Amino acid sequence: MTHSRRPPYVVRPDTAVLTRGFDPRLSVGSARPAVFRSSTYVFSSPEAAERAFLIALGKERASPGESVDLIYSRLSHPNAEILEDQIVPLEKGATAAAVFNSGMAGISTICTTFCQPGASLVYTAPIYGGTQHLIHQLLEPYGMQGIPVPAGDTAALRQAVEGARNLKLVLIETPANPTLTMTDVADASRAAARHPDRPLVAVDNTFLGPSFQHPLQLGADLVVYSATKFLSGFSDMLAGVVLAKEAELVARLRGTRAILGNILQPDECWLLDGRLPTVGLRMSRQSKNAQHIAEALAGHPKIARLHYPSLFTDPEQVRIRDAQCDFPGGLLSFEMTGGKRAAFAVLRNLHIAKNAVSLGGVETLACHPASTTHSELSPEELLRYGVSDSLVRLSVGVEDWRDLVAELRGALDAA
Ligand SMILES: *Cc1c(COP(=O)(O)O)cnc(C)c1O
Repeated sequence: MTHSRRPPYVVRPDTAVLTRGFDPRLSVGSARPAVFRSSTYVFSSPEAAERAFLIALGKERASPGESVDLIYSRLSHPNAEILEDQIVPLEKGATAAAVFNSGMAGISTICTTFCQPGASLVYTAPIYGGTQHLIHQLLEPYGMQGIPVPAGDTAALRQAVEGARNLKLVLIETPANPTLTMTDVADASRAAARHPDRPLVAVDNTFLGPSFQHPLQLGADLVVYSATKFLSGFSDMLAGVVLAKEAELVARLRGTRAILGNILQPDECWLLDGRLPTVGLRMSRQSKNAQHIAEALAGHPKIARLHYPSLFTDPEQVRIRDAQCDFPGGLLSFEMTGGKRAAFAVLRNLHIAKNAVSLGGVETLACHPASTTHSELSPEELLRYGVSDSLVRLSVGVEDWRDLVAELRGALDAA
């Protein structure tokens, strides 16, 4: 059984997300996908079962258009197939996707699939706390070497890639959290392509994708998301997605996923699938709101420094932004003149915006990274990556921006 019957004509992504990957005739005519909660699937014949296992184990390849029987839901299930097929058109340059039960599940499956003991991986720093933990506490003890490079340093990243031995993976998170420093994906991808080991380039696109940043078009091989954030958009579920230019890479990830057992469950697939048609609408509104807020707060006497892509002044950051981002996105951060006390005071005085970690939901969230999301970093690392004690991060939602500006101004004045 397959849900991947596609229209014979080419449509644009916003249309494709609503038309491909799902055939109502396979779900008693329901206009939207049903949830298939079965853990196991009845084979159409013993021969079909044998064939399905040969393909699942990679011993044979499915021929184009062949309908292969499903086996068991840890390997794949209809809701994963529907979601994986429908999300592909949203990522420019992608041909295949694999869904995971969190963003971290996606990132760890990439690392364990493509890096072996003795391999090195270059990554931008700061990187998501869970990813940093994965590298230091899991990959390095297993004999892999992590090589950090400061986000935004184009020459240092190129040199790190050129100088690394047995290099299997270049992992870029851009923009960096929480300073929004951008890293040049195209330059790193060219360096990786010249490297004798031909390492894969993976980009954590959680902050600006899929709407505003398209790493596969810049030369990256893999894009990974915490779909917990903008893709799902309501702060009510955990999910991860990896997309690739080459379907073969996704097939390898699915092989690891089948063993680790970290495929996204049917109910979560169904939920996320229903959010895909509105991700562009939500992200546009969030980006416009954040733009209004950034403009309104820039120059406020209590703010020492504000970080927002459309207000970048560093020429190299402006260059990277213009080369790889369509819009500035829904995240911004600012440093208070009054240090940690003032940052905490702002958080205490917010009511529409909630004091919580995570991001990308329709509701505005604010947090103090140095004492929460980035508290695992040493004082030297915090300093090096610009995560000061006075910094507040905002993930802007879809509320009326005028209410958010009024509340933020009031909280700043009171701080
Ligand atoms: C949240 C996040 C992750 C981890 O995703 P989970 O869904 O929480 O596992 C990875 N990268 C970035 C940039 C994130 O914001």
